[in-house]
Amino acid sequence: MDAERVLAERFALGEVLDGIGGLAWELDAATGELVWWLPEPEPPGAILGVAEAARAALTGAVPLPGAGGGPQGEARRVGWLERLTRGDGTAGWYWVSAEAVLGPGGDVARTRGVALEAGDLHAELERLHYHNEHCGELYLRIRTGAALGFEFVSGACKYFTGYSAEELYESGMAYALAAVEPATVSRIEREIVGGSIEGRSIDFPSRRRDGSLLWVRAVFHESYDEDGNRVLDAMIKDIGAERALELEVAKLKLTDTLTGVSSRQALEEQWPLLRERARQAQSWMALAHVDVDRFGLVNSALGIIAGDALLRSVARRLAEWVNDAGLVVRLGSDNFVVLVSDSASRQAAISAVEQLVDAFLDPLPGPQGSSFVTVSLGASILPPGPWTDDALDVRLAEAEVAMRAVKRRGGNGAEIFAEAMRTEARGNVELLADLREAAAADQFVLHYQPIVDLSSRSVVAAEALVRWAHPERGLLSPSQFIPLAEEHGLIDTVGRWVVARACAEAAQWPEVAGSRVKVAANLSARELNSPGLVAGVASALDQGGLDAEDLVLEITETAFVHDFDAAVWTLRRMSDLGVHLALDDFGTGYSSLAYLAQLPIDRVKIDRAMVIGLPSDAQSRAVVAGIVGMADALGLDAIAEGVETAGQLAGVRELGCHAAQGYYLSRPLPSDVFRARLLGDWQRPLALS
Ligand code: C2E
Ligand code: MG
Ligand code: MG
Repeated sequence: MDAERVLAERFALGEVLDGIGGLAWELDAATGELVWWLPEPEPPGAILGVAEAARAALTGAVPLPGAGGGPQGEARRVGWLERLTRGDGTAGWYWVSAEAVLGPGGDVARTRGVALEAGDLHAELERLHYHNEHCGELYLRIRTGAALGFEFVSGACKYFTGYSAEELYESGMAYALAAVEPATVSRIEREIVGGSIEGRSIDFPSRRRDGSLLWVRAVFHESYDEDGNRVLDAMIKDIGAERALELEVAKLKLTDTLTGVSSRQALEEQWPLLRERARQAQSWMALAHVDVDRFGLVNSALGIIAGDALLRSVARRLAEWVNDAGLVVRLGSDNFVVLVSDSASRQAAISAVEQLVDAFLDPLPGPQGSSFVTVSLGASILPPGPWTDDALDVRLAEAEVAMRAVKRRGGNGAEIFAEAMRTEARGNVELLADLREAAAADQFVLHYQPIVDLSSRSVVAAEALVRWAHPERGLLSPSQFIPLAEEHGLIDTVGRWVVARACAEAAQWPEVAGSRVKVAANLSARELNSPGLVAGVASALDQGGLDAEDLVLEITETAFVHDFDAAVWTLRRMSDLGVHLALDDFGTGYSSLAYLAQLPIDRVKIDRAMVIGLPSDAQSRAVVAGIVGMADALGLDAIAEGVETAGQLAGVRELGCHAAQGYYLSRPLPSDVFRARLLGDWQRPLALS
């Protein structure tokens, strides 16, 4: 073959190799110099490396790289898989194939070969490679008898033991005995002596050469050779990840995943221990049930993510407060249990949990800025004992009953369980069942309390106040069932009934001094989240035949606590209907004058708490004057609530309130009585003093 043709062929081959990402070379076996290589012009490091490895294998000196096989003394042709780093720094898997070119004396004069990219196999090989290195299984065979030792160990031994196969063959059993705890060795021996270890699986910790610990599971297969020696085949698996998961699961069961505080299971497990410790130390304990007020509102208005964030903040606040002196547990949803131990007396235990409510005086940090949260806390107080009836679930139930009592008062407070509450709680369960039927059974009634304009002295509006004519318990006031309805999702039904009835009845009222008398209905903060609210009000107006501008809806500030924007959005749509909006009980809550301007309201009702000190108490005067001043500035009507005396009426007039409502002017009246008064003496201005 002439040189020119050879060159032309190489050139053609070079093109082909370039196209498929392959390499080819010929190497002088004696000098280690590349005779030729492709692709030209540069001899890349990868070619030199792989050509050198092929030479070493073909001249019989060294085992093949990558494949882990034994020495290839007689080989004239070798092939293997290897990861090569290319000229551009990237790496990939290659099929390498090389052969020896013998010299005249039969010695290896040159070696030559090709390396072709393994292409699609690449990813698979990566995975296999990783598996083999990290999570492959180790197979080994031990033959007992004269020379106890490893007869075979698979490639994964390096990962499992830190030793190469060669080292293990040499070291005999010394490694195994050093790596495995004596307890495990004797366990394996026991199994063998006690019968057969065939098919048994044993989990045990094992140490690598560098001292690192590895949990493994060994499954044994037992047989005998013709000399009667026992042959043990073991398949050994790394169970580190599995064990870590098991431990994690065990820990998770004791931890509440959302908040990181303890779980109910942890409480149950620790309960007997805690009680025993309290008995020995003669200390009192308080088991408090803590429920976040109006949490349902946050969840429905802001979404579950924000709700979860709030729960985490609450848990953190409780944990900070309790510190090491107790245990914080999340039972589920927004229900927490706080256990305070080590109190010296009943009183100390009580004041400890009562202070817990104050832990929420400061706002809670959250992803959307800080927010105010209040909690309702009920506690069961446990004497040191000895105690026979000390079941955890009984105590939890007591704490919950006490917590419900706080909820009924409107939340934000603490209550200690007393035996009388149990009967009350039972009563509430029945009341709730009745409440579900009440609207359908037409048991609600509305009483109306007039609101009097202080300059014209005429009745300009009336507040509709719901009562429940319970068939057995008589007329129940809203405080006896509204919180219950709110808590159990019945408030929408009650609210819808109230607005519908108020519209229908007010449409039948006569005019006073040439003007219509407006009717004001209370909306619970929870109702603001009800999707059908605005449509429901529109249809109540329509059905009742009342003009929208003759309806006022009263809302309290709690409606804005959790999601200001959502509440404002709903109210805007309401005021688009033409309905008036009043902010009720102003001055009792988180009152901030600053945000009033942003609400689509046109009246503020000054709470009775501020009116009660009038006319003389300086602080009440200052507060009422401040509210009225601001209402004037914003163009809002200021209405004084709970005016009970002539003095208070004089006070609110003097301070510039526009209207007043209260027992002094009139108690809330049954519908027919109220209408009769409107038709009668209230047609004329009232004598106010
Ligand atoms: P509110 O909206 O602030 O209603 C005023 C409450 O103060 C009424 O109590 C009324 O009877 C009482 N009141 C009026 N004048 C005086 C006074 O001079 N002195 C004193 N001490 N109290 C006075 P009521 O009817 O027991 O209602 C209590 C609360 O129940 C209401 O407070 C309101 O928040 C709620 N409520 C009443 N009706 C409804 C309703 O239909 N839906 C909702 N969601 N809540 C309602
Ligand atoms: Mg009201
Ligand atoms: Mg009020």
